[in-house]
Amino acid sequence: MKIAVYPGSFDPITFGHIDIATRALKVFDKLIILINVHPTKHALFTAEERVEMVKATMADYLDRLDIVVAEDLTVSVAKKLGATHMIRGLRAVTDFEYEFQLTHANRVLDNEIDSIYFMTDNKYSFLSSALVKEIALFKGDLTKFVPEYVVEKMKEKLK
Ligand code: ADP
Repeated sequence: MKIAVYPGSFDPITFGHIDIATRALKVFDKLIILINVHPTKHALFTAEERVEMVKATMADYLDRLDIVVAEDLTVSVAKKLGATHMIRGLRAVTDFEYEFQLTHANRVLDNEIDSIYFMTDNKYSFLSSALVKEIALFKGDLTKFVPEYVVEKMKEKLK
């Protein structure tokens, strides 16, 4: 069975993340979304809230999709979970430099876990969790960026 991990903050999950995850599910038997918990990065949602949002919005795929909270190095977690690859998304050229650095750093850490990049649908190429949070702060319409379940959670959080 081919297993991949898809690491990220998912704070919150957006249509861009869902687009990448569904592309990866066409290639791998099982996909594990790794919710990264950074000791120094402040997140809007707790890890548990982020897990719930991924579960609710990816409900159609839960037979082949797991969600795991990761507080360790991604390559170490990937190996423990039996994954051979990590999935990342590319929006535009601006993502490339950071992702290039990340892939090579991960290869130095563990050369057996390789990275695979999917390009998102063009209509999500500008979309990020940070942008969603900014629009939410100013009470903008989020329905084109995140699923309805996440829209509601954002409203509750920022009340
Ligand atoms: P990070 O924690 O590295 O900031 P995110 O949690 O935002 O990353 O995203 C995890 C992965 O999903 C990254 O590879 C990122 O490039 C990708 N991603 C995020 N938003 C999109 C999008 N709109 N289209 C394609 N890929 C995306």
